[in-house]
Amino acid sequence: MGFDIKLFVIGPIENNTYLLSDSVTKEAVLIDPAAPSQDIQNYLNNNQYHLTQIWITHAHFDHIGGVNWFVEQSQDQLPVTVHPDALPLWENAGGAHEFGFDFNPGMIPQDLVQDGDMLTLGTYSFTVLHTPGHTPGHVTYYSANEGAAFCGDLIVYHDVGRTDMPGGNQATLINSINQKIFTLPDQTRLYPGHGRSTTVKEEKSNNPFL
Ligand SMILES: [Zn+2]
Ligand SMILES: [Zn+2]
Repeated sequence: MGFDIKLFVIGPIENNTYLLSDSVTKEAVLIDPAAPSQDIQNYLNNNQYHLTQIWITHAHFDHIGGVNWFVEQSQDQLPVTVHPDALPLWENAGGAHEFGFDFNPGMIPQDLVQDGDMLTLGTYSFTVLHTPGHTPGHVTYYSANEGAAFCGDLIVYHDVGRTDMPGGNQATLINSINQKIFTLPDQTRLYPGHGRSTTVKEEKSNNPFL
């Protein structure tokens, strides 16, 4: 039946934080925890889910604001995956100071992922796609079996991620979308970091920036 996707909209600029869970093994993964969230913690507890990993699409402060909190809540060593090119931004507080936010990301991730790496949630497998442009270390987490891609700020409904911040590059972003996202099956559902979900087909047909 597929893994379960639970959306939480949290943080100072309304980020999509996705909680993926396997109802059989009871394992759960958080993608881009934007802020500390007792709601997410309660959801995990109420469903007896065990948070086993945190996956980060990119290190902007609004996507990593909850990482340290969730790591501290966990009794286990919680792996936090990022692309190595995301570490400079992470160590620069995710760019928070440029936006007037005071933020200290706390821990530094040790679980580095590269293009083509495989990750698993229970019985489900995901491929890491390196999709730079919005930031150099941006990745997308793609499940071929379930037809789902968690694409951060690369592409959002009828829009693309901004490229006017340090490390951004529009040509690189467009190339990432064309090479890594528009080559996925048309019905693939795209789960962005902000706003509603969409599909490859919808964006191929109706995204004015592509
Ligand atoms: Zn971003
Ligand atoms: Zn964002």
